[in-house]
Amino acid sequence: MDFARTSILAVLSTACLTPALGQRELSGSAQARLSLDRLNVVGSVLMIAAHPDDENTALLAYLARGRKVRTGYLSLTRGEGGQNLIGAEQGDELGIIRTQELLAARRIDGAEQFFTRAIDFGFTKTPQECFEKWGHDKILSDVVWVVRRFRPDVIILRFGGIPRDGHGQHQASAILGREAFSAAADPKRFPEQLKWVEAWQTKRLMWNPASFTKEQREEVEKMPNRITVDPGDYDPVLGHSYAEIAGMSRSMHRSQGMGAAERKGSVKDFLVTQSGPVATHDIFDGIDLSWNRIPGGAAVGSVVAEAAKTFDPENPYRTVPLLLKAEKLMATLHEPLVTHKQHELSEAIVLFSGLWLDAASDKFAVTPGGSLKFDATALNRNHMAVQVKSVEIEGVSPTTTKDKFGGVLPFNEPKVYAFTTTIAEHQALTQPYWLSSPKQGDTYTIPNQLDVGLPENPPLFQAHFHLRIESDDVEVVRPVAYRYIERAQGELTRPVVVEPPVALQWSQSAIMFPNGSPKSVELQVRANIAKASGEVQIQTPAGWRISSQSGDFDLMAAGEQGEILFQVTPPANDAQGALTASVRAGDQTVATSMETINYPHIPPQVLFPPATAKLVRADVRLLAKTIGYVMGAGDEVPQALQQLGAEVVLLGADDLAGGNLSRFDAIVTGVRAYNVRADLRANEGRLLDYVKNGGTLVVQYNVADGRNPFGGETNLLANIGPFPITIGSERVTVEDSPVQFLNPASPLLHQPNEITARDFEGWIQERGLYFASKWDEHYQPLFETHDPTEKPQTGSTLYTRYGKGAYVFTAFSWFRELPAGVPGAFRIFANLLSAGKIQ
Ligand SMILES: [Zn+2]
Repeated sequence: MDFARTSILAVLSTACLTPALGQRELSGSAQARLSLDRLNVVGSVLMIAAHPDDENTALLAYLARGRKVRTGYLSLTRGEGGQNLIGAEQGDELGIIRTQELLAARRIDGAEQFFTRAIDFGFTKTPQECFEKWGHDKILSDVVWVVRRFRPDVIILRFGGIPRDGHGQHQASAILGREAFSAAADPKRFPEQLKWVEAWQTKRLMWNPASFTKEQREEVEKMPNRITVDPGDYDPVLGHSYAEIAGMSRSMHRSQGMGAAERKGSVKDFLVTQSGPVATHDIFDGIDLSWNRIPGGAAVGSVVAEAAKTFDPENPYRTVPLLLKAEKLMATLHEPLVTHKQHELSEAIVLFSGLWLDAASDKFAVTPGGSLKFDATALNRNHMAVQVKSVEIEGVSPTTTKDKFGGVLPFNEPKVYAFTTTIAEHQALTQPYWLSSPKQGDTYTIPNQLDVGLPENPPLFQAHFHLRIESDDVEVVRPVAYRYIERAQGELTRPVVVEPPVALQWSQSAIMFPNGSPKSVELQVRANIAKASGEVQIQTPAGWRISSQSGDFDLMAAGEQGEILFQVTPPANDAQGALTASVRAGDQTVATSMETINYPHIPPQVLFPPATAKLVRADVRLLAKTIGYVMGAGDEVPQALQQLGAEVVLLGADDLAGGNLSRFDAIVTGVRAYNVRADLRANEGRLLDYVKNGGTLVVQYNVADGRNPFGGETNLLANIGPFPITIGSERVTVEDSPVQFLNPASPLLHQPNEITARDFEGWIQERGLYFASKWDEHYQPLFETHDPTEKPQTGSTLYTRYGKGAYVFTAFSWFRELPAGVPGAFRIFANLLSAGKIQ
């Protein structure tokens, strides 16, 4: 229990340390005033919804920064199933990016972040599909666990559990939140959790219904048991209103293009009591938020109030004696709510003393058996008597130091204690904890119950500073992080990870064999240590042949990368299987690749997927040999097309404006290309001329709704074809929805590949999104498909001849299906690319 608590606290303090793009944690007098006010408020609120971006950031900022209560956001999922607007990452990688974006947002609005084991499997229209895929009780138990651990006074649901919510996962979040309100209080529900936590009765359950539109607002204003809060209130200490802070926080959701305005002035929000005593004026009506609620706590309250009253912003250290007094009083209280307050108080003592405490490693990655150095630094920037009695490093391996502790810290001169450690040979790699075991359907497998709910891995190492300040003992924890300078961005930190000595990566995650010919397949070997050499072992599925079952590598420097080429011969007929690589390192077998996710708004993230590629043998014929590709928001379609033997050229602004387009058999626009590329929109005329002269243009999906995150207006997309097309918001989310052929005689269904219903088997996540809702009669719709219980959709793929060439609009999810190696998707897409060459 104790270890678990320190881990959670340490994760929180990691968050405080990481600079978020110029949005550093508050400091100085504003932070001092805020922490004094917070110390005197013993209350908490937990908001529950389904995804990164569902949270009401203004309300979170109002609660955490304005009302000074402990505030949490529980998102059922990490948003793995959405579209990525800033790169090609999908699934696990996108979940990692969104997790870090939420943490970056929380550093700004002051709330904490939690998750369940549920995976966002993509858009669904019903909560039932969620419960079938996730297991109702499994996710309910996670919500109950977070509630029992966080102990909120009030739970705020972001959704109503009704079709008004839209997404089925939104509805599920409200249904589960409501059930958890009672289940968390019932010791007969999920009794296995009571080994670590106690049952907890939240006092009030409220719903914060969306009121963005006029209609929604009118509906909400009629709801009974409703109160109003105004996050538009200005905070003179912070210099912003909470709604303005919300704009900054929300703008961290970059992978969703959620850059938001910093709204000024009054902004009303509504909260409706759903369970517990009805609130008539305030969220906390009838709830004591003072220290009086804790037996024996009143004395702490009056000391903290005295500290707040006598606080001198010019001389904050004068408040320290009162804080030390409060610390002694708190230590006599035995209440789970106090634990969190003790952590806040230790941080306040450090802040008011002007101390700076830090733990930094000499590198950000270490291999099993390797060694690591840390510096624990204490800097006394005030004239107080502070001693470092000891520093203990807690972590995955024992540490040693030769430095002596004790003695009063000199004024404004850093005192550094140097530690070393050797990582065990069998130390596991630092995989995000929710990815370290195989998934169970649409949920993560988390073997250690104490990890459930955590936003990210606890740090590998953390430093416990045992201080004596004047005559009192104070303990403060800091994560050991790597501190570095990025020339373009300044000083940054990143977590320390354990990485394999070598990482193995196939050049493609799915390798397509469009005919029976052998193919060269490349394995990249990356050394994380100097002088890495050895022999890679390869395993192929039955029926596939490989030029060699092994390959040697010999790399001199850490960071060096080499390639080993293998000739793979597929079976004659359709087949699929896994190609795996492994290498012996000491007495361990390494069979992982290594991926670093690097964006300026989040700390770099590392993960270690298995060194496996999917092998796919399927007959695919393609008439387009040279393809121009206009990359949009980011996708991996070009690499997939290369696998069919085509030459793929990425087209830049110059190519679009003045290049020779006629050399391409087909030109393809990437996902959301019209949304993100003004050069594409500007040169639409040249592309249409290219079609007129005999080319083939294939346009993948774009977004046309009013919330176009790139500020594009809806009519920007009026000219994406030779004849008018209106982009709608229709999507088909069930990946095996039946598909009808509307024009069975269309050459696109027969040449060069004969398309049958089988080609729509084995698709992943969805059929497609942002279908056309209206189109000119020149277009021929090719397919009809729809979700169960929905009306037929015919706007997924439109085809027309134009001049001597062909134009195809297609909103099927090629960006998911092709990189995943879905054979039918390759065959259909090859026909679309070949459209201009067939009649
Ligand atoms: Zn959502």
